[in-house]
Amino acid sequence: MQPRRKTRQVQVGPVAIGGEAPVSIQSMTSTYTYEIDETVAQIQALAQAGADIVRVAVPDPKDTEALKHILPQVPVPIVADVHFHFQRAMEAVEAGVHKIRLNPGNIQDRQQVDRVIRACRERGVPIRVGVNEGGIVERKDKEQRAEEKAKLEASYEDQLIGIMLEKLDAYLRIFDENDFHDVVLSAKSIDPRITIKAYTAISERHDYPLHLGVTHAGPKETGCIRSVVALGTLLSNGIGDTVRISYASDPVLEVHDAKEMLNCLGLRPRVEPELIACPTCGRIEVDLITLVQQVREKLATIKTPVKVAVMGCVVNGPGEAEGADVAVFAGKGRGIIYVQGEQKRTVNEAEMLDALYEESLAFADRVERGEAQLNQGGVTIAPPDPLPREDGTLPLRVVSQ
Ligand code: SF4
Repeated sequence: MQPRRKTRQVQVGPVAIGGEAPVSIQSMTSTYTYEIDETVAQIQALAQAGADIVRVAVPDPKDTEALKHILPQVPVPIVADVHFHFQRAMEAVEAGVHKIRLNPGNIQDRQQVDRVIRACRERGVPIRVGVNEGGIVERKDKEQRAEEKAKLEASYEDQLIGIMLEKLDAYLRIFDENDFHDVVLSAKSIDPRITIKAYTAISERHDYPLHLGVTHAGPKETGCIRSVVALGTLLSNGIGDTVRISYASDPVLEVHDAKEMLNCLGLRPRVEPELIACPTCGRIEVDLITLVQQVREKLATIKTPVKVAVMGCVVNGPGEAEGADVAVFAGKGRGIIYVQGEQKRTVNEAEMLDALYEESLAFADRVERGEAQLNQGGVTIAPPDPLPREDGTLPLRVVSQ
């Protein structure tokens, strides 16, 4: 991991972006903002999942009107996503949003952009200035459009990044001329390699905080890989102050995956259980894949970062589960449960899920009461005796029932 690049800090309600502030997680609602109850429910679900900031689209006056009712009911700062209509930005600021996402290129009248900047300054509202691969080519000026398209045809990747940087620089001149610096930048591409290059180039030119994202990443299954390749690379290079993973799916999944990415990079402390599980192999004797899914769902109710291992055998399982607070090693019809290196119970396959959950919950409670400490890597798990087999081919030693 490279040290985090030093950026300016902006304040989005109670959440700081940039500077020494931890990398924050953002998401965006998929509801119609004017449907107030649905929007409030989704923002609450996103906040519950771990989102620090939530963005909503405000294409119509009825959406900005709804903001007045939504804002008092939600626990996280709200960003209004504005395209084309500067009035929506003015109304959103008036309604009390904590940040505006604006593409000045979509607002033709410079005086209108100046008015939005003035309103944001008066209210202490920062602005994200974003360029996206999908909308980067000029639409109205035919000559400029032809010129940009010709450039892209010649060498797509380099020219795209060049156009993105040129446009961002042009937008930033407007903000500079207004002496307004509460700005966050983004430059999203569909391609992770372009995203990495674009943000790296921006970070070398500007010290504004960066909002990382891959645009139109697709469904979760592939979008997850696309996003984590780009964002994980940038973050491990010290680039990025706030992230949005985006899927064509339930946005709560975006937050789960962003959180896991930041946990894995050590950029956010884990607050919930960590599940490790073996990939299974020809030694497996139980339905471990189903068990792992069931354990994952049950552990979601525990709010202590206990490390739990679900392993398919006693051959390699103990070594691979090293460092786990609670572990089960499954064998034919049975599972041996360990808590911090100590054999606790041997249970039948049908009882494994509940027993593992009970031991995990009990251990988490002890940690919360200060009677136990989370494993910092000092626990060794000695291999248990071979597990019981119904046909009696392997001798068994049951530790406890
Ligand atoms: S723990 Fe055992 S069953 Fe699981 S992958 Fe390793 S050797 Fe195979």
